[in-house]
Amino acid sequence: MDYDKNLDDALAALHDEGRYRVFMDICRENGSFPKAEWKRPDGETREITVWCGNDYLGMGQNPVVIEAIEKALHVAGAGSGGTRNISGTTIFHKELEAELADLHQKEAALVFTSAYIANESTLSVLPKLFPGLVILSDELNHASMIEGVRHGRCEKHIWRHNDVAHLRELLESLDPDVPKLIAFESIYSMDGDFGPIEEVCDLADEFNALTYIDEVHAVGMYGPRGGGVAERDGLMDRIDIINGTLAKAYGVMGGYIATTAKMADAVRSYAPGFIFTTSLPPAIAAGAAASVRYLKEHQELRDQQQEAAKVLKMRLKALGLPVMESESHIVPVLVADPVKCKRLSDRLLEESGIYVQPINYPTVPRGTERLRFTPSPVHDAETMDHLVKSMDALWHNCELARLPMVG
Ligand SMILES: *Cc1c(COP(=O)(O)O)cnc(C)c1O
Repeated sequence: MDYDKNLDDALAALHDEGRYRVFMDICRENGSFPKAEWKRPDGETREITVWCGNDYLGMGQNPVVIEAIEKALHVAGAGSGGTRNISGTTIFHKELEAELADLHQKEAALVFTSAYIANESTLSVLPKLFPGLVILSDELNHASMIEGVRHGRCEKHIWRHNDVAHLRELLESLDPDVPKLIAFESIYSMDGDFGPIEEVCDLADEFNALTYIDEVHAVGMYGPRGGGVAERDGLMDRIDIINGTLAKAYGVMGGYIATTAKMADAVRSYAPGFIFTTSLPPAIAAGAAASVRYLKEHQELRDQQQEAAKVLKMRLKALGLPVMESESHIVPVLVADPVKCKRLSDRLLEESGIYVQPINYPTVPRGTERLRFTPSPVHDAETMDHLVKSMDALWHNCELARLPMVG
């Protein structure tokens, strides 16, 4: 067995397809984000602007959040020192869970070390709690949900993306008496489109199914208190399990589910991914709680972010660039070629100090490679101007097609 050769082959396959991932070494500058320092492979450093982060509202440098982290750090020290079961449930974790239950108007919330783990652990434990469970999963669900469903080893059906007619067909084909769960997202972050929450809830009622929604890209961002798209649309009470992250709009780290007290108790008691791992550091839990609390009361950040996304989409479209139709805050620009996508991203960085990571397969389907911009309230007008001008020039230089101008 030549182990090295296997590794070489696996890596060469990625290089051949033009989708070998190169991670960028950066240091975000607290207080002046989206500015960051980029440490180049040759050791030189350069100031760049991050245009592809998920810290959508700049909460990672919010003084209220940082102060909460510092305070808890000095009160409780660095780590939690245990799993939730064995000495790792601190008052900071409990406070965060109360904040999240309140956010979603649910009886309980459970905090995990990430939303990935929350999805994976919860979805994989549900078939143990409901023997015979059938999971109906949207085809574009995030990798963490796919892994959860897979590890649950239950019967599963994939419904075509956002196609509620197909979902209905699948539900009709199932035995009315088997337990069912519909798993989907409120915002699909690579296309920026919304899931059909109300229609899914209607079908769930009709077929007596449970609903599981990933609101990772929506929490903090939508709804009058940042409870997500389901809050905005008045549908939170119709969802059985809401999943969210504390690492994107909330700018810290961690993930959670919000649900009934009984469901939370069962998941808490049975999910290995909740039980057998050290809980978040207390300072992180405190920072996340401060961020959630803050965004319940700061609608203006959401408004500014939505406005920035609208303006950026409009300006790129005005240049004839193929901005993908997205009603949400995400601005994806289709390049449709992994090699060109990487080249464009490299040149934006080298020539303009603009950092936008190319998005390739398997994150998105082959042939739909794209740049995904995430404007925020901390990207000012001048910064956006620079981006738009650079995209215009480089799109030309990279010989990429433009859309015919309309209007
Ligand atoms: C990022 C992401 C996750 C995972 O969230 P983390 O807290 O970063 O682990 C889950 N679902 C979706 C849709 C995501 O984009």
